[in-house]
Amino acid sequence: MIPFNRPPFLGTEFNYIKEAVNNQKICGDGEFTKKCNAWIEEKTGTAKALLTTSCTHSLEMAALLLDIKPGDEVIMPSFTFVSTADAFVLRGAKIKFVDIRPDTMNIDEKLIEQAITDKTKAIVPVHYAGVGCEMDTIMDIAKRHNLKVCEDAAQGVMSEYKGKALGAIGDYGCYSFHETKNYSMGEGGALLIKDEENAELAEIIREKGTNRSRFLRGQIDKYTWVEAGSSYLPSDMNAAYLWAQLQEADMINNNRLASWDKYYKAFEQLEQKGYVTRPVIPAECKHNAHMFYLKAENIDVRTKLISYLKENDILAVFHYVPLHSAPAGQKFGEFVGEDKYTTKESDRLLRLPMYYGLKDDEIERVIDAVNKFYKG
Ligand SMILES: *Cc1c(COP(=O)(O)O)cnc(C)c1O
Repeated sequence: MIPFNRPPFLGTEFNYIKEAVNNQKICGDGEFTKKCNAWIEEKTGTAKALLTTSCTHSLEMAALLLDIKPGDEVIMPSFTFVSTADAFVLRGAKIKFVDIRPDTMNIDEKLIEQAITDKTKAIVPVHYAGVGCEMDTIMDIAKRHNLKVCEDAAQGVMSEYKGKALGAIGDYGCYSFHETKNYSMGEGGALLIKDEENAELAEIIREKGTNRSRFLRGQIDKYTWVEAGSSYLPSDMNAAYLWAQLQEADMINNNRLASWDKYYKAFEQLEQKGYVTRPVIPAECKHNAHMFYLKAENIDVRTKLISYLKENDILAVFHYVPLHSAPAGQKFGEFVGEDKYTTKESDRLLRLPMYYGLKDDEIERVIDAVNKFYKG
């Protein structure tokens, strides 16, 4: 059976976990958390990076930092994971869903402005499959309307848009280190903060609303409760696990990209014959091979193809059910404008097995099976 995902694992994770345990400090903000934060800051150029317990929690922190209040509106695509919306719904926001572009499956930047009202507070672009949204346009819209931008870059670690790291372009950026993502700590994430002046409040929110981070740096004599907050910092054992993978980030990235390229080349003919559509990577984007998807003609063909692959011991999956069609999406949000592509294109999409260490013979088997399906 070729699984759909294998969590990234190198072996060196054990060494660092042992070190973390030997340090006798496996609670949050130990040595490995600091190393991971510094790595993200250096790699992305963001003013401040803070490891968190999940991307969902990074998004929640961003919603708190943006001071989202009941009645505020937040703009995002409907084609995304539930967490993108949940984080803002928890603060009482109303979600305004905007249609996607059929080429990248990202929010259609040209449709954002029509969704803006005097209640709009933020735009939340999602970099689907680690391929960047049209960020110049989005940042320009935000600037003109005095809105904040929070990037859901859960899938975008190591990806770039016009040479800038995804997650480090908007006011806030949210990474995921869940085991289904390119770099893993089991459950985990990071919040990227673009402006230094927002870093202190972020630290406070992450540390139960206290100024403990300043205290630990020796900047104050005792720490106290200063704001509303929660606990969003991961154990240093988890950070140690992630650290092993960040040190090999280029190797992991190149390995994934090589697999992605093999799929991409192999399906050129099926695309020319009009059977499938392959992913589109805009010229200004450098992606990270987070996933390889194909789009079948319609949902019926997709269902048959997934079943056929399963009969051949290959696990392919689909996602997402557009949020505006889910019960909570109807309760907490609304689609603005016409759903021209969100439902239609998500119905067509299937993800093929893609993970670090995917073997050539496995890739061949997947390619052969898809080709055989279309010959039949
Ligand atoms: C994975 C994912 C999340 C959630 O990440 P967690 O770390 O599991 O909380 C949010 N948004 C998108 C687009 C994702 O792919």
